[in-house]
Amino acid sequence: MSTHIEKCGAFVLKAAACGLTALVLSTPAFAQRTQLRPGWNLFSVDQDIAVGKQNAVGAERQLPMCNAPKVDAYLTQLGMRLVAHLDTHGAQYPWEFHCVNDRAINAFALPGGYVFVNRGAIEAADNEAQLAGVMAHEISHVALRHGTNQASKAQLGQGLAGIAGGLFGGGVSGALLSQLGSFAVGGVLLRYSRTAETQADISGTQVLYDSGYDPRAMAQFFEKLEAETKGKNPPEFFSDHPSPDHRVERVDEEIQKLGGPPPNAKRDSQEFEAAKREVMNLPVIKKPVPGVQGATRGISKPAPPSSNYSSFDATGFTMKYPDNWKKYGDQNSVAFAPDGGVGNDSSGHGALAYGITVGTSQLQNANSGNALDTATQQLISGLQQSNPNMKITRQSSRVRLNNVPALSTYLTNDSPVGGQETDWIITVVRPEGLVYFVCTAPQAEYSNYDKTFGNILDSVRFK
Ligand SMILES: [Zn+2]
Repeated sequence: MSTHIEKCGAFVLKAAACGLTALVLSTPAFAQRTQLRPGWNLFSVDQDIAVGKQNAVGAERQLPMCNAPKVDAYLTQLGMRLVAHLDTHGAQYPWEFHCVNDRAINAFALPGGYVFVNRGAIEAADNEAQLAGVMAHEISHVALRHGTNQASKAQLGQGLAGIAGGLFGGGVSGALLSQLGSFAVGGVLLRYSRTAETQADISGTQVLYDSGYDPRAMAQFFEKLEAETKGKNPPEFFSDHPSPDHRVERVDEEIQKLGGPPPNAKRDSQEFEAAKREVMNLPVIKKPVPGVQGATRGISKPAPPSSNYSSFDATGFTMKYPDNWKKYGDQNSVAFAPDGGVGNDSSGHGALAYGITVGTSQLQNANSGNALDTATQQLISGLQQSNPNMKITRQSSRVRLNNVPALSTYLTNDSPVGGQETDWIITVVRPEGLVYFVCTAPQAEYSNYDKTFGNILDSVRFK
């Protein structure tokens, strides 16, 4: 009798254990997903919003904005769909989403929920899920308050004296707040640690999953960016968001915890394709020179170009430029200009007055026989849309650049220094797209630059 009871007890215990296991397996999404919380922070949520707002105003003033209401509306709609599935740990953020007319593949989010997405990120995404992945990553930095967490740690590193008043006064000192009040690309609010990156990846994956998107899309997009550049000239994104070790493996692990990729996961939408088409048609060259902050108004005449040259190694070619010119931007759109060669355009954005802009735009029909002519016309009409006074002064003629067939076109436009400028555009079709070189100088001084522009173009070597 007693033996029988014992067996029965053992059986009951085993059944309960089995039942428990089955229960856990059937609801992994709730039982096992990684829990994340914001780290140590000197700031309050309200201060995140105040600092973010102040920086967002600065960013909008300093960066070239897309000024494409439909694209901003699309980003806002997509962003809010993701925010609906974001754990903000009880905070209410005044979310804003803006498109930046910068072809560098990047996006950033300021504390408090001010999100900026470069057109380059939209152009580089293969589908809506990949763009949603980048945005889910960004809004996760906001919810986990990584920006002000970094700032808090940086302040601690500078010594407690500076913040003692703030700590003991029950808030952040005014000095610390005002230090963080002016927007600087790559500033302390946007320079994340690898730990913060892993957290944003995990949270972003959860947001994607809960919003019905393929949760693998974010890691796939990062992988694609890394593969395309093969570690050379990495996209701007990775300078603010350093790749943690085993990024993809960690994301895959989280997807398994969530129960695997959901069936019928959303990957693309017509709205995404329409927004992508719209940003691809935005003007590409007469944009503020990336990386230039607070460009000086009333430029003085730059020093003559040096006859010594420095080398630049782009993804698809190498070239040389005068060694007294500075390089701005990244490999998607880079400019070389002398000190004082960058001024403000009518909207207060930095604009190149003297120097050369080099970029690549995507080809619509890479294999058609007249791809070079078609793409060059598209490039020029895109420029004219945003520069109504830009006119062709010499029609495109056939030339060769490093023995590759190219087109040479001359245009005039309003110069940021006043009067007219000459823009000499050389275009060439390469595997990576339409590569363009735009040589710019005020018309009255163009002859002083002609030889330098010629030397730069002669130095181009395609890989
Ligand atoms: Zn990040």
